[in-house]
Amino acid sequence: MDKFIHSLPLKFLCFLVAISFAPVLYGQESKITNKPNIIFIMADDHAYQAVSAYGSTLIKTPNIDRIAREGMLMKEAAVTNSVCSPSRAVILTGKYSHMNGMKDNGTYFNGKQQTLPKIFKQNGYRTAVVGKWHLFSTPTGFDYWNILPDQGNYYNPKFIKNGKDTVYQGYVTDIITDQALNWITKNKDEAPFFLMLQHKAPHRNAMPPLKYLSKFNDRIFPLPSNFYDDYSGRIALQKQTITMKDHLDIRYDSKIPCDTCPVNSVNNWAPAEFQREIERLSPEERRIWDAGFQKEYDKFKTLKTKDEVVRFQFQRFMEDYLRCVNSLDDNIGRVLKYLDDKGMAENTIVVYMSDQGFYLGEHGLYDKRFMYTESFRTPMMIRYPNGFKGGKTTSAYTLNLDIAPTLLDLSGIPVPADMQGESMKHLLINGKEKNWRKEVYYHYYEKSFGLTAHYGIKTTRYKLIHFYDINSWELYDLKKDPREMKNIYNQPEYSLIVSELATRLKELQNKYKDSIK
Ligand code: CA
Repeated sequence: MDKFIHSLPLKFLCFLVAISFAPVLYGQESKITNKPNIIFIMADDHAYQAVSAYGSTLIKTPNIDRIAREGMLMKEAAVTNSVCSPSRAVILTGKYSHMNGMKDNGTYFNGKQQTLPKIFKQNGYRTAVVGKWHLFSTPTGFDYWNILPDQGNYYNPKFIKNGKDTVYQGYVTDIITDQALNWITKNKDEAPFFLMLQHKAPHRNAMPPLKYLSKFNDRIFPLPSNFYDDYSGRIALQKQTITMKDHLDIRYDSKIPCDTCPVNSVNNWAPAEFQREIERLSPEERRIWDAGFQKEYDKFKTLKTKDEVVRFQFQRFMEDYLRCVNSLDDNIGRVLKYLDDKGMAENTIVVYMSDQGFYLGEHGLYDKRFMYTESFRTPMMIRYPNGFKGGKTTSAYTLNLDIAPTLLDLSGIPVPADMQGESMKHLLINGKEKNWRKEVYYHYYEKSFGLTAHYGIKTTRYKLIHFYDINSWELYDLKKDPREMKNIYNQPEYSLIVSELATRLKELQNKYKDSIK
């Protein structure tokens, strides 16, 4: 043995000495293992149009941007099925909806199957989920769970903590962050951890924190250029009922009590839902709420035309949505500061994303679901200082499907062969990946809000969508028509492209074992 050591180069001997003392040299982190901690932060319905790292003109999100700046910003990240519960199931399993069983919001997630937290737990991690769960079945694979029931409430919300109801005082985004940081504090020195920190905000109906009730009052948000899209040539869009102009509710979305309504044409279908939320406020909080919205009540009384009402409701929607996003960004800043203060930033992977994108008036819509860009894409960024150098962006087509394999791979845990996503590890380290997917397969199922099920393929140039329940096809040339306003499926000069794309779509369906209609 001595002879062997004497034969080794001095540098290598120094290295051996260094690693044998590593637990002492690197303190707390190495006391456990060299495995990274993981904080997976997800918002609900946070549009990339409302993230300044994506060039938003609506709002500044300095804390979210910091994750991108110190890590990698995925500019073309997308989801495989743009609706809440299915996206969450895709993230937990690394599998498409038809494989994990959760095709729409009306299904119970089968928690008996293999999931990301279960694999982390099997590999010595402590696991937790705090915040919005929205998978209906009881969470499995978590040492600790403290979740909102179903959609949850914004004000003084009830949580279910490891099976027991608990009501917290305060604003939901702050409380989710408090509970998450408390859990980290209790567990960080015992084992590496995997925490899913899942916000409710800014999901409809966006109820802002009381401290931000006057934020953005100095702004007038312009209608997107395609707000008055007439949906010509696109049957599925003609059938939906998620337009800002006709389907927002005056009380639920705009926060205007109906007894002040001078315009008969406004929707007022949700008094009970709205009432349930604001009745959670204490009398003093309710006084602040009413005072904050008084000028809106007054303004609404002065509106005369339908167009004035539409613009008012758009403005009201944007203000409250962005107030919720502002609070989300503040709280992400708290998490990043916590990691800095505890010296944990280097060895902790931080992911930020939304469960899908969202329309902020583009095509005249709110909500998500369609394969069109605003809801197909999602904000996504990953920071891991010990794992890769920051300051990177990529236009690679990353997916929510890739989160599970990526987090396992970054943690040195083998990725199960049946996961359908790809590990982004080399993309994160090298900034590019030659063999990365060049096209994305999408499949949406839910029939609510007049939507029809559809699948499709997006390539670097085109998007082909089949709304199969109504047998309606759409083709977009994304270079000539990035806003997807002109369906060119039936134009003869594109027939060859249609047939090539249809073949590739079938190949993707075979690859992912999806049934073909
Ligand atoms: Ca959502």
